[in-house]
Amino acid sequence: MSSVTCEVCPRGCVLTPGKVGACRARGNVDGAVVGLGYGRVTSLAVDPVEKKPLARWRPGTRVLSLGGYGCNLRCAWCQNHSISQAGEDDVGWRVLSPAKLAAIAGALHAEDAAMVGVAYTYNEPLVSWEYVRDTARMVHAEGLANVLVSAGCVRAQVVDEVAPLIDAANIDLKSIRPETYRALGGDLACVQETIRRLAAEPGCHVEVTTLVVPGVNDSASEMDELAAWLADVDPQLVLHVTRFFPAWRMTDRGPTPVAQVYDLMDVARRHLAHVYPGNCGTRRA
Ligand code: SF4
Repeated sequence: MSSVTCEVCPRGCVLTPGKVGACRARGNVDGAVVGLGYGRVTSLAVDPVEKKPLARWRPGTRVLSLGGYGCNLRCAWCQNHSISQAGEDDVGWRVLSPAKLAAIAGALHAEDAAMVGVAYTYNEPLVSWEYVRDTARMVHAEGLANVLVSAGCVRAQVVDEVAPLIDAANIDLKSIRPETYRALGGDLACVQETIRRLAAEPGCHVEVTTLVVPGVNDSASEMDELAAWLADVDPQLVLHVTRFFPAWRMTDRGPTPVAQVYDLMDVARRHLAHVYPGNCGTRRA
């Protein structure tokens, strides 16, 4: 049996027989790269779309939100590390086929017209992109919408597979500095290409989230550069500037000061019309 290379993300894991990739959701099974996380659901909840976050897409509605396990990035501050950094033996999961998931969403919609679709979220959904694709097709067949919440660090061919099925997306842009992405095991150019492709996809509404981590990406100059880049893609893109809280392996610093989040929003507004705070409560400090 031979080694195979996974082409889903820029890590390009070379998988010897039986080996699982860095994301822990794909592996070499009988000489082929297989999405081991396909259909394995760890989390299922109905969330307001504002929680995804989506600020300018069907406000007041809700989506059936599902997560699996695995992620190709290693953000020390991950709030969802219990599933994002887990493999199949580390977390409880149950199999929900695309048909079953779409049927659950359809039944929820029948009871509540404001429950408008399904969100692929919580861990990195695109390490199991085949499940997103297959489920999204069935969700559309139910007359419901698909929402993608992703770090976007996958190759263009994966984005192209799912983009026509996505009605709204929130993509993380963690930094505009390549070295920051390298430290997380990711690739800035790859994420930028994902945002470009989704923004160019007809019918796909795109919002972006930047978590402001003290000492990592909290300078005004970086926010200025990041927002300018987004505006170059599309000045109507929505940006969420979000407050960090200590989590997982990053507990050596406090939360981002609320005032700093608002100052950075002012910087972003030099370039973008739609900029929102995240995790800041309701009032400016
Ligand atoms: S998707 Fe997973 S297995 Fe494939 S290259 Fe990325 S980290 Fe490796």
